[in-house]
Amino acid sequence: MSAIIKRLLIPITYITLLLSSPYSFGIEDVRLSAGSASLPLGLYLELIEDRNGSYQSEDIVAGRYDYQWVKNTSEIPNFGYTASTFWYRLSIINDTNEVQSRIIQIAYPLLDHIEYYQVTGSMTVKSLVTGDRTIFDTREIPHRNFLFDLVLEPNEKTFIYLRILTEGAHQLPLSLWQERDLYTVDQGELITKSLYYGMLLVMILFNVFIYVSLKETSYLYYVGFVTSFLYMQLSMHGIDYQYFWPNHPSIHDKGILLFVPFTMLFACLFTNEFLSLKTNSPLLYRFLNLNIAANICSIIGAFFISYSLSTKISVGLVIPQSLVILLAGPLLWYSGEKTARFFTLAWFVMVLGTTMAAMNKFGLLPRNVLTENGLLFGSALEVVLLSFALADRFNREREQRFKAQKEKFEESRQRQAIEERMMLQATHNQLTLLPNRVLFQKRLAEILAEENDGQFHLAITLIHLKRFHEINKTLGHQNADELLKIISMRLREQASQVHGAVDIENKEGIQSPVATVEGVTFAMILKTHTHQITEEAIESLTKQMLEPIEFKGMSLDVGVSVGVSFFPEHGGNVATLLRHAHIAVDMADKNDNQVAIYAKEMNPYSARRLTLMGELTRAIELNNLELYFQPQINLQTNKLSGMEALIRWQHPTHGFIPPDEFIPLAEQTGIIKSLTAWVLNEALTFGAALNAQGHKITISVNISAMNLREKNFVESVENLLSEHQIAPNQLVLEVTETAMMDDAVKAMKALLALNDIGVRLSIDDFGTGHSSLAYIKKLPVHEIKIDRSFVMEMDKNLDDEMIVKTTLKMCHSLGYEVVAEGVESLIICNKLRDLGCDIVQGYYLSRPIPKGDFIKWANARDDDSKNVETA
Ligand code: C2E
Ligand code: CA
Ligand code: CA
Repeated sequence: MSAIIKRLLIPITYITLLLSSPYSFGIEDVRLSAGSASLPLGLYLELIEDRNGSYQSEDIVAGRYDYQWVKNTSEIPNFGYTASTFWYRLSIINDTNEVQSRIIQIAYPLLDHIEYYQVTGSMTVKSLVTGDRTIFDTREIPHRNFLFDLVLEPNEKTFIYLRILTEGAHQLPLSLWQERDLYTVDQGELITKSLYYGMLLVMILFNVFIYVSLKETSYLYYVGFVTSFLYMQLSMHGIDYQYFWPNHPSIHDKGILLFVPFTMLFACLFTNEFLSLKTNSPLLYRFLNLNIAANICSIIGAFFISYSLSTKISVGLVIPQSLVILLAGPLLWYSGEKTARFFTLAWFVMVLGTTMAAMNKFGLLPRNVLTENGLLFGSALEVVLLSFALADRFNREREQRFKAQKEKFEESRQRQAIEERMMLQATHNQLTLLPNRVLFQKRLAEILAEENDGQFHLAITLIHLKRFHEINKTLGHQNADELLKIISMRLREQASQVHGAVDIENKEGIQSPVATVEGVTFAMILKTHTHQITEEAIESLTKQMLEPIEFKGMSLDVGVSVGVSFFPEHGGNVATLLRHAHIAVDMADKNDNQVAIYAKEMNPYSARRLTLMGELTRAIELNNLELYFQPQINLQTNKLSGMEALIRWQHPTHGFIPPDEFIPLAEQTGIIKSLTAWVLNEALTFGAALNAQGHKITISVNISAMNLREKNFVESVENLLSEHQIAPNQLVLEVTETAMMDDAVKAMKALLALNDIGVRLSIDDFGTGHSSLAYIKKLPVHEIKIDRSFVMEMDKNLDDEMIVKTTLKMCHSLGYEVVAEGVESLIICNKLRDLGCDIVQGYYLSRPIPKGDFIKWANARDDDSKNVETA
């Protein structure tokens, strides 16, 4: 388009000139008397466009096309990309009385083909052919720009004709110089350029070094970018041709074609990588990737398509790419990406430099060192700033990595501490800090597994503080706890003196031959060769224990019953030995020394147990038990989502007996079967009643290990569900970890069957048992209940909080719902919500309450949440 306009304009200018000027052919001569150091020649030029390149020099010189000469109107003729040949002419007169010599310079080293004619009178006194497609050594003056010698006699007038054809941008910055001045100015320019090249080179080497040691791709791209850019500059300035391959113009030619797309290719790669556009801005990333592909095509194309088309493509690509790269920086900086700061600044400086240079060219800015070398300064600063940017980013990343590492380390340290604490808690009595039943059984099992061909016998010894409950009642909980601690410490001391006492625990300075197997029952294992000696040792220990204890000015008699079972005489496994020792304890009262050795004839059920269990059975039959319900709240909706059924037994003479006391007995005696059946029936009846009132919530019922071993348990659950018309997934059965470990195969079978009929399963008291998530993972479990001992004080105890936190994280990652029980305050409730806990249960919401109260509570809660919703 512009070419067409130009073609039209030239004749028009010509015509207007023809009409307006009396000296239509006469252009101003260049006068040497002016004596200036350098003189731009643009405005002294006339030109002819020879579209086919068919005009012969002889014809031009002879004046055959003289009517076509047109005065050039700009300081530097510029025709962009054109296929036309242009002829230029100017006349120079030596209007002095001396011989004058000058140099004519074309300060644009990329012109392909230049013919130079000097004509004086009708004589062609000099003719030369040059250009950057002609071997360098043929130049009249070896210089990166095109220089021509001019010598004129006094008063001599001469004409200079130039024929120029080029495939790149066609422009002709022509000037006339005094030789000395040209070289002085040239020297200065060369020094500036060398400094500039040198600086780019230093940046390249420096960053190559960094790349080699860090292997960070962005450094590689940066080096690629600066190297390509440097080479591009060397080509444009004509340096590469003069010094690298003066005899291979084709290499110089390709260089320019290749290094523009190479520069842009690396600029895009660098931007993508440096600003992490893939994640930060997928749109920009895709756009730059497209351009990367285009640049690669352009590089390959340089070898196949014509020079002019190839330059047009690669130069045309520069504009959109530069714009996007320029925009990417501020965009990302704006969206909070700190690494984009230096990046933005770097490209801004580059653009500023280029703009300044352009404005200078258009005469909008005065000529000075800064504006003349805008591109040089701009790019130099850019390169330095980008290098800063890399260093900055590297530092930032290193800091982040360091921080992340530290956090990870801290986390794993905490997790380890928690695991240790959980392990400790799971294997120790929380009050006495002695090993608990779990650890005791484990140790006993270990000893039983040891190789032993009748060499030693074992005495499993249980020491029960029989009057402790009375003391508890008279002194109060706190004192009783304190007393129990003192007793257990003293017992540990005394027990370690007993001959043959085996350490239940012996590691890291904690050593104890005694375990707390139940609230006020301790256990020991003695290795023995003669029963006689062992029995005597136990008797003397008992004697010591029977002595009154001085406590807060009182002399207390706690009363002791000791029962012993011998291995292998009284049993070969842990359960049997323990059961028999328990039976012996109940018989100890009969003996004066308070010690009983198990004997087959002993009644397995003591009178105390028998009466209590008998009464429990009757209570079940007569419906004298009561079921209380404790609400559960979903933390997301804040609504009632379920309830746990908890049994209550009001004994006619003993008063309220806590379930913790009679449930273990019921389990040992088998009464648990009918008890669970009763609870299930009661709970489902109430559940159905709630359903009818519109409260569709889950019903959690505690079951024990023995239930899982019952033959028809699953069937009876199924029957009850259909009888009460309750959806199976409304029923949640709570089992403890340890319960399942007892007979893992049978338990697993039952659990799978329950899962099959759609009943939900919950792991109760999670964290206190001995098993692991690895085991639980194999079970068809839906819900985990974090034990209340971790929850109750999690606002004060950092360890507890950490345990709850990690448990939540682990359980959620395995897909379980998590219930926290023992929530006693708003603070804890909120904390659990923050931690992402699903459901809470505890005194803060409500204690376990009778049915009637529960319905009231549920209705009130409903109204509340409605009020909240409308408020
Ligand atoms: P569990 O299954 O862990 O039941 C939760 C216990 O925590 C209940 O004690 C409950 O009253 C108590 N609790 C609830 N919220 C809080 C709170 O915020 N703070 C504190 N300090 N305690 C809270 P409960 O009713 O004495 O029951 C004790 C254990 O007896 C139960 O522990 C469960 O193992 C067993 N149990 C109760 N009812 C039944 C039953 O029907 N069948 C079976 N097999 N076991 C039962
Ligand atoms: Ca429970
Ligand atoms: Ca529990």
